[in-house]
Amino acid sequence: MNKKNDLKVFITTRESTCEECKEELGHKAWITLHKDKGALCLTCADMDHLVFLPSGNAALTRRARKHSVLSAVVLKWSRARKRYERQGLLVETNALELAEKECLEDSDARARRRERDAERRAVLDKQYIKKFAKCIRDLFPGCPSGRDVIIAEHACLKYSGRIGRSAEARSFDKKTINLAVIAHIRHLETQYDKLMAKGFERWEARKQVQKQVNEVLRKWESS
Ligand SMILES: [Zn+2]
Repeated sequence: MNKKNDLKVFITTRESTCEECKEELGHKAWITLHKDKGALCLTCADMDHLVFLPSGNAALTRRARKHSVLSAVVLKWSRARKRYERQGLLVETNALELAEKECLEDSDARARRRERDAERRAVLDKQYIKKFAKCIRDLFPGCPSGRDVIIAEHACLKYSGRIGRSAEARSFDKKTINLAVIAHIRHLETQYDKLMAKGFERWEARKQVQKQVNEVLRKWESS
C-alpha cells in the first residue's frame, strides 16, 4: 500500500494552456505535467474527481492516502525558496470520508479513555481518603467528626503526586498519620500561623505551641 507512487499536480505560477483540450487555464491553474504532452488540466488528466486535502493533519493525510486508489501530491513553486513546496494531497472523496471517520473514532476513543482514567483516579482518591481518615480515627478516636476527612484530603493532595505502591503505603504509617494530625492541629488549634506571620522562626513558633499541640493530641487520643 505504501509502495504507491504519488502522482504530482502542480499549481502553476505562469499562464498555461491544457495541451489536450486547449483550454486557457490562466495562472495558478492546477495541472499535471507529462513528458510527451506538457501541461494537462485535471479534467484531461482524469483527476478532477479528486478532492483537495491541505497539509497539516498528518494522521488524516496518511489515512486518506492509504484509502485512496489514486492520489496526487499538490506542489507549488516557491519563488522565495526556489523549490516546490507541498500544499497537500488530492484524494478520492470516499477515501477522505473514511479517513475522517477513522480520525473521529480515534479522538472519540481517546476522549472515552480520558474519562475512564479520571473516573478511576476519582475512585482511587476517594478510597485513599477513606483509608487515611480511618487510620486517623483508629489512632485518634477523640478527633472531632469531620476533621479526620479534612486531614485525609490534605494528605491525599500531598501524596497524589507521588504515584506508586510504596509511597502510598508509607503515607499510611503511624508516623505519617501523626505528623499530618500534628500539622493540622498546629494550624487550626494554635497561634502557630499567627506567630509565623509575625516573623517567628519556625522552630521558635513550634516551641511556643508545643504544649498546646500535645494537649489537643492527648484529648484526641482518648475517646
Ligand atoms: Zn484539458
